[in-house]
Amino acid sequence: MEFSSFCPHCRHFQEFTLPSFELKACTHCHKEIFPNATELFKESFQFNQCPHCGAAHLYRQKDFNRKLGITLLAVGIGLSFFTYGISLLLVTIIDAWLYKKVGNVGCCYSCKSQFRNSPKVDNLEPFDLELHDYYQNIKQ
Ligand SMILES: [Zn+2]
Ligand SMILES: [Zn+2]
Repeated sequence: MEFSSFCPHCRHFQEFTLPSFELKACTHCHKEIFPNATELFKESFQFNQCPHCGAAHLYRQKDFNRKLGITLLAVGIGLSFFTYGISLLLVTIIDAWLYKKVGNVGCCYSCKSQFRNSPKVDNLEPFDLELHDYYQNIKQ
């Protein structure tokens, strides 16, 4: 599984890949990165809570690079004048294909940690705006 987040202690950005669970220390402050990892998470990367901050809710979303999508669209529109709109059709197709191809990324509502390349990520619930608002509110 790939993991990317800010260190809960010093906010230093962390990114690493773990084939199986191991206790990881922050590269910057050397404190533990998964202080809230449960036994289930250690065994099989199950997200019964965020291993990072301990929040009970995580969601999945498409790991789609929005910037890339917008750039593609801009290029398509820019070229459509010369290609009589064919380029626009083409980028729409590429866009849809990319969207299908990308995997899911698991995110924590609370600390925004991201988890990739784990089948467990696909089992997470999709994004829920109410939960998102709930976590925004308790943070303030
Ligand atoms: Zn740190
Ligand atoms: Zn979290």
